[in-house]
Amino acid sequence: MTSLVWLRDDLRIADNPALHAAVARGEPVVVLFVLDEQSPGIRPLGSAARWWLHGSLTALAATLAARGGTLVLRRGPAAIVVPDVVHEAGASAVFWNRRYGGPEREVDAGIKARLRADGLEAMSFAASLLHEPWTVRTGAGTPYAVFTPFWNACLAAPPPRRPLPEPAEMPAPPPEVGSDDLDAWDLLPQRPDWAAGLRKRWSPGEPAAHDRLRTFLDEDSAGYDRARDEPAAEATSLLSPRLRWGELSPHQVWHAAIAAGAPATFLRELGWREFAWHTLFHAPDLATRNLRPEFDRFPWPEPSAAARDAWQRGSTGIALVDAGMRELWHTGFMHNRVRMVAASFLVKNLLVHWRHGETWFWDTLVDADPAANPFNWQWVAGSGADAAPYFRVFNPDLQRTKFDPDGAYVARWAAAPASLPPIVDLRATRQAALAAYDSMRRGMPGAAGRLQSA
Ligand code: FAD
Repeated sequence: MTSLVWLRDDLRIADNPALHAAVARGEPVVVLFVLDEQSPGIRPLGSAARWWLHGSLTALAATLAARGGTLVLRRGPAAIVVPDVVHEAGASAVFWNRRYGGPEREVDAGIKARLRADGLEAMSFAASLLHEPWTVRTGAGTPYAVFTPFWNACLAAPPPRRPLPEPAEMPAPPPEVGSDDLDAWDLLPQRPDWAAGLRKRWSPGEPAAHDRLRTFLDEDSAGYDRARDEPAAEATSLLSPRLRWGELSPHQVWHAAIAAGAPATFLRELGWREFAWHTLFHAPDLATRNLRPEFDRFPWPEPSAAARDAWQRGSTGIALVDAGMRELWHTGFMHNRVRMVAASFLVKNLLVHWRHGETWFWDTLVDADPAANPFNWQWVAGSGADAAPYFRVFNPDLQRTKFDPDGAYVARWAAAPASLPPIVDLRATRQAALAAYDSMRRGMPGAAGRLQSA
């Protein structure tokens, strides 16, 4: 009897518990990926993410083919597509690794119930997080709202399991299960083709992900503590798109990092990834709703399209913000320090709602992550879990002098005329932001604004 493995955010063959379980049955295995943009509540992928997905699926198909297997691609609502493929393949067992977003969990629970009702084996596995969200709780049984006690609880829990080996051979699927043609999914930009910078910077796929992990741990991680906040130094791991797409599991990164003696600060960043996902698990509408409800009263002014455009294009006249936004546009990535500064500038100096920024990042980041992106936007905006206090407004010019002292990062991504005048006065807009915050705290709409109803 055939087994079916349904891959989602886990585009790898090593340390893949669902694939491992299917192969262990010693029967033909169908490896399926479904491009699902139709199930209720599922957030359609952004453009840069679609670009990455195309590359990662191409690499995965090659990896499977080299071991005698095939990748089956289908498109449509998973609740229809998965049972269809199960039927076509005559599969008796279906395996997948868990997802933690609200709509995704509903889709998966519905499919599991239906398959089981039909007498099939349907099993899900823990693969994408170091700790399942329901296992990390405060003494009172509630989810953690603050990072440090959360991370201490993770560190006190049983350690993450050891990674599983990759299957040496893939039992081929039955020939009657056909696949879509990946090119027909149109995941790559055509006219215009804006992806040249992405192609130059990234090689999606599991083999390149392992290369990057090795290079980071062997050569770069020693300088992580010292230089991780300096965008010009390129001292961070660049593993975020790999983890987003599951080309690497956090377990692989965790154990390799410990074996290589990587700094605890790096492991702690993996902890922030966990915290973002656990937060999403408990607050599935993280991308659309303030975690702290008092921010529903924040008096956002009418959004200025001109200000938003300038921010998106990297022409605000604020050097570090513009450099970051241009790095993002050209490569699908932005350094974490610059993400924080660019986000703070949008939310606090331009007084544009964090949801606009979150949506832009969702469309342009190759690592656009359903948990980390809204989590971090809310963190910057002050409305999130363990967020930066609202009144701590980054000064992007001071941040530039501190973290890009010789101007190398800004020069690398410099906008055309360096003399572009700032579109806002940093000091005056900071005061306006603090006044808006103050009026929110006093429960009154600000003079400039109307009540936000998000
Ligand atoms: P490293 O410093 O090498 O960190 C290792 C890993 O830890 C990262 O790959 C990532 O998986 C995780 N990590 C590090 N910092 C964070 C963090 N603050 N929150 C959650 N996980 C973290 N990260 C995403 O993966 N996807 C996003 O969509 C995303 N959106 C962001 C939006 C804003 C406004 C901000 C301020 C940050 C965002 N981040 C996001 C977090 C962070 O900027 C990136 O994870 C990091 O820059 C990736 O670079 P790296 O892999 O070299 O990081």
